[in-house]
Amino acid sequence: MASVAALRNARVVALLVVLGASALVHVVRVGFAASHARQDQQFDVVIANGRVMDPESGLDGVRNIGISGGKIRAIAADRLQGKATYEAKGLVVAPGFIDLHEHGQEPKNYQFQAHDGVTTSLELELGTADVAGWYAQREGKSLINYGVSIGHIPVRMKVFHAAADLLATGDSAHSPATSEQLKQMTALVEQGFREGALAEGMGINYTPGATHQEIVEMFRVAARYGASVHVHLRYAGLKEPTTGLAALEEVLAAAAATGAPLHVVHITSMGLRFTPDLIAMVDGAQKHGLDVTTECYPYTAGSTGLESAIFDPGWQENMGITYKDVQWAATGERLTAETFEKYRKQGGIVVIHMIPEEAARTAVANPIVMIASDGMPLTGAKVHPRGQGTYSRVLGHYVREEKALDLMTALRKMTLMPAQRLEKHAPAFHDKGRIRVGADADITVFDSERIIDKATFDEPLQYSEGIQFVFVNGTAILKDGKFVDGVFPGRPARAPLAH
Ligand SMILES: [Zn+2]
Repeated sequence: MASVAALRNARVVALLVVLGASALVHVVRVGFAASHARQDQQFDVVIANGRVMDPESGLDGVRNIGISGGKIRAIAADRLQGKATYEAKGLVVAPGFIDLHEHGQEPKNYQFQAHDGVTTSLELELGTADVAGWYAQREGKSLINYGVSIGHIPVRMKVFHAAADLLATGDSAHSPATSEQLKQMTALVEQGFREGALAEGMGINYTPGATHQEIVEMFRVAARYGASVHVHLRYAGLKEPTTGLAALEEVLAAAAATGAPLHVVHITSMGLRFTPDLIAMVDGAQKHGLDVTTECYPYTAGSTGLESAIFDPGWQENMGITYKDVQWAATGERLTAETFEKYRKQGGIVVIHMIPEEAARTAVANPIVMIASDGMPLTGAKVHPRGQGTYSRVLGHYVREEKALDLMTALRKMTLMPAQRLEKHAPAFHDKGRIRVGADADITVFDSERIIDKATFDEPLQYSEGIQFVFVNGTAILKDGKFVDGVFPGRPARAPLAH
């Protein structure tokens, strides 16, 4: 009969054969360090006794989290020592929310987003024509993490020499590009990728002059970089042949033919009452192997520029609405035929009440549809509330009050899924959207019984309630629901340069 020691030796030999000697030594060393760390080591920050929920591992239990150097270093059932300890008993500790779609990228927007649990705010639909400049502007001055796409609309505006503005008008919106202009656009999009753009943004509804061929060419560029294309579809209509579904077919075909991953933005404002049909198309495409994803915001109104091509003649019939459904954001007044003409010439943001509640609810509840705010620059007293309240509205209204979906599914749609959307092209996102040792310490701590959006169409500039602590790269930016002044721990979320 073999002795215990001999048996143990035999096991070690077998393990060495399987793992290789250096791998085993590594495992032993890491194991030792981890158990040792708990007794002796002091972490920069400890989040104690919270209900830790991680959509990737499925962990849902009371744990302590140790953070040092901006990273999660320990997730433990036993006590941890911290230079600063935050008590999270009775609170949910989740990965910080990643917003794939936020047009407001100013300090004030970041404050509202922090109160809504967002730790990474990305402008991926419109994007920019100057990726390097966009990142440089925010370096070292940002409350939360930030990132941008190379945008087809701003690139097109640049090539057409349009005046700098949020959205295209005139020729840059309505004229087809010459082959020379198409070459220039391709070169500018490539430059954006070399400068670390996270994705390619596209809003075909705003550039009706862009031919189907131009769209395919723009997908080809993204495919060369393995980057996703985030598209506002060509139509948001109810009437054939300009339906949201027809517009979805255009980009599904472009994705299939070029190999570029596709992300359809705000599927509810594209599909309107046919939203379930659009989601079914995305679902079917996924099941047949296409890399396609989508997102929604939890509201029954859209918002955009009144001067844009969205309001070209025929908009009432297309969207199934009329003047009174359109609200001028500066004052909140509902439009008439007269004020429509006047404000369209002037240009400015409107809120468009056009999405049926059933469509919003269907998309929010669907596990394949991510949550993204589509938040707007804070111009006007009656700006859309979505940039301020999207995440708390999903967690408070749709999860707690309506029970339209469970909490873990909702968190997955706000954290893991957006990170996975970007991580192939931007590997930094492997370490975001997760509560995992080694991940970035972007963490949102909230009271699931109390969380709720306060921003409304009447009073849009209200902080959400129930978010208690928010950490960005290990630094607290919200403590006990109150904003911490003078800290700027946000870092660029960016793809590798010049690859
Ligand atoms: Zn859009």
